[in-house]
Amino acid sequence: MAINAASSERGEPYKFCVVTYGCQQNEADSERLSGMLKQMGYEKTDAEENADLILVNTCAVREHAEKRALSVTGGYKHLKEKNPDLLIGVCGCMVSQEHRLDDMKHKYPYVDFVFGTSYLWRLPEIVYGRLNKKKRQFLLDTGDDGNIAEDIPVLRECRYRAWLSVMYGCNNFCTYCVVPHVRGRERSRYKEDILKEARELIADGVTDITLLGQNVNSYGHGLYDGYSFPELLSDINALDGDFTIRFMTSHPKDATKKLIDTMAECEKVAPQLHLPLQSGSDRILSRMNRHYTYESYKKLVEYAREKIPGLTLTTDIMVGFPGECEEDHEQTLRALGEIKYDMVYSFIYSRRKNTPAADYEDQVPEDIKGVRFRRMLEVQNEIGLEINKGYVGKTVRVLCDGESKNDEQMLTGRTDGGKNVCFKGEAEAGEYVKVKVTEARPFVLMGEMI
Ligand code: SAH
Ligand code: SF4
Repeated sequence: MAINAASSERGEPYKFCVVTYGCQQNEADSERLSGMLKQMGYEKTDAEENADLILVNTCAVREHAEKRALSVTGGYKHLKEKNPDLLIGVCGCMVSQEHRLDDMKHKYPYVDFVFGTSYLWRLPEIVYGRLNKKKRQFLLDTGDDGNIAEDIPVLRECRYRAWLSVMYGCNNFCTYCVVPHVRGRERSRYKEDILKEARELIADGVTDITLLGQNVNSYGHGLYDGYSFPELLSDINALDGDFTIRFMTSHPKDATKKLIDTMAECEKVAPQLHLPLQSGSDRILSRMNRHYTYESYKKLVEYAREKIPGLTLTTDIMVGFPGECEEDHEQTLRALGEIKYDMVYSFIYSRRKNTPAADYEDQVPEDIKGVRFRRMLEVQNEIGLEINKGYVGKTVRVLCDGESKNDEQMLTGRTDGGKNVCFKGEAEAGEYVKVKVTEARPFVLMGEMI
């Protein structure tokens, strides 16, 4: 291959670095981008300054994520000045918006190529074109053609945990959210392709598989009649091997009792559910276009807890959505107190271009958003701590992820339910161990291996 030939001429391999922002779907995409570059003959490096090609995979869900991607990309200008042969590419959700693609074209002249979320498979052709001194490339595409590129090589970050995308895009158009605009309409992969990939992962030694989709409960719509996400879960569960299945995300409006029953029946499906509530106020939920009420949500949670003992329940909460008043916020806090989540991923509402909520006139002032955000964290920290205290003295099974980043004397890992554990002991990353919980903290269980 051209890159290999160039590498051997130079006496050392050409290197690439992929910098990823955003959600699990982006991480999964980056593993495919890396897989293609590896197959082209590039070698991976985590140090941008050593790379011959830098690819920034961006997020657009909040302004903060865009700002980071823009400033990081801006920082590569000096690398290009030092090494004019360096290739710089920007891809993903942020540049799947026309105004950002234009920014790249005009304000970042050292960026060699830009492509939207579902042009990922064109990376080799784009890179070869640029290596052969073709013009800078700017491809805007969000997958509205409904096609899915299959059989793209993957370079996984972890040998025992893996992402498995079951569908792409979103049709829900929550009024705050940019995802449907940048990832296009919902489209599901054929079950045969998913099962084949799952079998390959298991054969490769993966023991923990997370199925991905913006709303996995829409899996199969428009593709199958009578085959949906629960059936897919059962089929993956029936594959030979010793592994755990997780999934995200489940939109509460489409999460059914059948889904819960299937989780309960399938022994390989983890007792873990991520069910984004967003707000405890029905008025706000309706303005968000979420199509469920707090009561219907709560009933589903009660059903899930009854059917799946030891369920780890997590959620996304957003504060400061336009029109949110004190009473709405109180209702969200009350919901946290009633439902008692193991973990809450919390967000401050961020105005996104081309979304309806960005034009609502009753935007909440930033300082009030900040106050509500901090209040919510305080409330949730206490709840998280309270739940975790219930684990003290118990023994949990943990998939070890190696040394803790905060303390190299400790190991870290996750329980079957996906709870973070930090523990003393000796084990390799990828090993399942038993840990006795000795102390509870709001976000982590502390313990010792037994
Ligand atoms: N498909 C998933 C969510 C994907 S985005 C679902 O429906 O649950 C992940 C989270 O980001 C959302 O749940 C929401 O809480 C948050 N988010 C999305 N748009 C946002 C915005 N404009 N401002 C702040 N948070 C946002
Ligand atoms: Fe965004 Fe709503 Fe789709 Fe989730 S379901 S990706 S929040 S539009």
